[in-house]
Amino acid sequence: MADNFLKTSRLDQFLETLRLFGELHAPTILESGVVSFAPLDDPTQLHLDYRRTQIPPKKYLLPFREEILHCHGGNYREGQSDAGDTVLFGIHSCDLEGIAYLDRVFMADAADPSYAARRARLTLVGVSCEPDDFCFCPEGMQSTSCDLFLNACADGFHLAGYSAKGQALLSAAAHLLETGEPVPPPALSAVCRAPEDPELRFSDHPLWQKYASTCVSCGACSVCCPTCYCFDVREYPVLSGGGTRIREWDNCLFASHGEVSGANFRPDRLDRLRYRFLHKFCGFTPLQGVNSCVGCGRCKAVCPVGIDLRELTVAPEQVQP
Ligand code: SF4
Ligand code: SF4
Repeated sequence: MADNFLKTSRLDQFLETLRLFGELHAPTILESGVVSFAPLDDPTQLHLDYRRTQIPPKKYLLPFREEILHCHGGNYREGQSDAGDTVLFGIHSCDLEGIAYLDRVFMADAADPSYAARRARLTLVGVSCEPDDFCFCPEGMQSTSCDLFLNACADGFHLAGYSAKGQALLSAAAHLLETGEPVPPPALSAVCRAPEDPELRFSDHPLWQKYASTCVSCGACSVCCPTCYCFDVREYPVLSGGGTRIREWDNCLFASHGEVSGANFRPDRLDRLRYRFLHKFCGFTPLQGVNSCVGCGRCKAVCPVGIDLRELTVAPEQVQP
C-alpha cells in the first residue's frame, strides 16, 4: 500500500474535506478547561495534542439517556436515533479499541437497533498520540479499528485507510496528499497487559480491602471508561395510556446498581470494586476471557482517592497490601 502523506500546512483543508462526509467533531477545550469531543465549527478550536478527553467517544453511540420504546394508543414503536452522519476526527487508539469492544457487545448476534443506527452513521478517523504517565497501552500504538488513521510525524501525517469509507476519504482528499514509498504497517492493536495471575487478583487478596477502605463509590472510573456500558431501563407510563421506556447510563460502583425487588445482590463496596475489575480483565459471557481495559488511564486520572488499576497488572509479590 503506497504511503499517503498529508503536510501539516494542509490539515485545515483536509478537515474541510472531511466535512463532506458528515458533521465534523474533534477534540476541543470547553470553557471549563475540560477536553471534549464536540462539533468543530472552526479549525482553530482543534486541540489535537490532547492526552485524553474526560468522557470517551462512547457518548456518540450510547447517549446518557434515550428513549428505546414508545407506546401510544396500543401502538408500539422503537426509539429512533436522531444522529446524522458524523465524522469523529482525532480519536486515539485506546478509544478506537474501546469502540471496537462496544461493537462486540452491541452488534453481535441480535444487534441493538439504537446502537447499530448510530454506528452506521459514524466515521472514525484516528490519530497517533503521545502517552503520559497515566497511559498503559503500548507506546505509540496505532489502531486499525477505524476508517482512517493518521500517524503523526515531524511535518505531517501518514494516512492509512482501513475500510471502504476510509478509502473514500482518501480519494476525496487525494489533491491534498503526496504519495510515496510504503511505510511499515502499524503495530497490531493490542491492549494493555492482562493481570499476570487473574485467579489471585480476583480472589480475597488483601489488595481489595485496601481499595475498598478508600473508595468513595463515586462511580467516576466507570463513567469515563471507554468500555463501561452498564445501563438501567425504566418505564414511565402515562395516565392516558401508553408510556415510554428509557435507557440511561448506570454504574456498577453504585450501591443502587444491585437493588432488585427489595434486596441487593452486591451491597458491599469491596464486591462492587472487585466486580468491575473482574469484568475489565476477565470478561463474562459471551466475552469471557476478553480484556476490555484499553489502557486509556482515565480511571486513574479521575479517581479522587488515587486508586490505580495498574496495580492489578503487576506480579502479585510487587503489590503492597
Ligand atoms: S479500566 Fe481504566 S484504564 Fe482501562 S479502559 Fe477503563 S478507564 Fe481506561
Ligand atoms: S473513581 Fe475511585 S473512588 Fe470513585 S468509584 Fe472509582 S475507584 Fe472508587
